[in-house]
Amino acid sequence: MKYVFTNASLLDGRLNEKQKMPVQEHMSITVDGEKITGIYRDGEAPEEGYTKVDLKGRYLMPGLINMHVHTIGRGEAPKPVTGKVDYKAIFSALTATEEKKQQTLQMILGILKMHLYSGVTTLRTVGGLKDLDGVARDMIAEGKAEGPRVLSCNTAISVPGGHMAGSVATESASVADALKDLDAIIASKVDWIKLMITGGVMDASAEGEPGVLRMPPEMVKAVCDKAHALGYRVCAHVESPEGVRVALENGVDTIEHGAKLDQHMIDLFRERKAAHICTISPAAPYALMPDSMTHSGEIGQKNGGIVMHGIIDCARACLDNGIPVGLGTDAACNFITPYDMWRELDYFVKYDKVSHDFALHTATQVNAQILHMDDTIGTVEPGKCADFLVTDYNPLDDFAAMRQPAMVVTKGRIIDKPVIDRLPDVDKALDELRAGI
Ligand SMILES: [Zn+2]
Repeated sequence: MKYVFTNASLLDGRLNEKQKMPVQEHMSITVDGEKITGIYRDGEAPEEGYTKVDLKGRYLMPGLINMHVHTIGRGEAPKPVTGKVDYKAIFSALTATEEKKQQTLQMILGILKMHLYSGVTTLRTVGGLKDLDGVARDMIAEGKAEGPRVLSCNTAISVPGGHMAGSVATESASVADALKDLDAIIASKVDWIKLMITGGVMDASAEGEPGVLRMPPEMVKAVCDKAHALGYRVCAHVESPEGVRVALENGVDTIEHGAKLDQHMIDLFRERKAAHICTISPAAPYALMPDSMTHSGEIGQKNGGIVMHGIIDCARACLDNGIPVGLGTDAACNFITPYDMWRELDYFVKYDKVSHDFALHTATQVNAQILHMDDTIGTVEPGKCADFLVTDYNPLDDFAAMRQPAMVVTKGRIIDKPVIDRLPDVDKALDELRAGI
């Protein structure tokens, strides 16, 4: 199909020399198949042979890119728990039989569709059940299901007792095991490799524990070396300064979450050309909501606070030192839905004190650059893929304008007024958190 989108208020994803993303009013964008073919002032675009879509002044921007997604749930509010939750048992049940696996695949496809409907046209999954994220990626790419462009890590690599070990990650007990597991993961067709280097908020049992180093440095190095030799890049779950240092010294390409940095780590980021992926969404509810809602307990809340400040500080230090910072939501964690990426941009503005322009630029062009895909996605320019998010209001005034997209365009295909399957209790809790209630 050939479309001409007219009367657009264009936000093209790029920043000018003043670090602004000016609204370009009264613009027309032509699309042929999956590609953007031209950008014109209204009235100057070709119309012959094109289906005209009048945007009536609505805001058109690049589709968002979410760097940190899990597909194992919809981000429901947690229920009160007594004792430790056995994630391993819960998640292995989801792929226990072929029938269960098929049901789980359908659940994953439903979740991925919500990401797309919310304006996320590309995402990276960073730890999932067996090869199912990759299977879903291929079904979407082949047009058998509706969803965003997916880059998948499939199963992550962890160690016995490590973060998400045995659920969305392996339990690799030695370097030799980890390399064997890496071979199996690569054989399952992946785009990136994910490591779980430190503990996390959800599996911590003592104050300060989310940052405990779980994976030995020699395992990080062996996996990164082999992955790099085979042409894969590596992202890693890290929630302590020691974890950041071990990750960067041994070859990790993107630090997920992060922690407070010292000069040595900043130098390592630069030398390694590594990037930080800022994820405030999973930490904020744990740190800031009352225990009656999070059921995280005193330790969980304190750990949430430690992690949240580590993430915010890490992003700020990287930005101050010219190190790329991307954005991801950690969707599927409690309170992180598949339709809420705008909240991460909102947190980025609030806590890392960036401008709205910079946050939108980060969620589009910068994320594309970190993925090494900025030649095809991340901006609205001729030759790029026709992935758009269209909103009724200017998101640079308030990112909540993205809450209900007027339209999403994925590879040149239009989804008009996408219907999002919401979790009203989660929306309400996050809106109250945002309003400071
Ligand atoms: Zn995660």
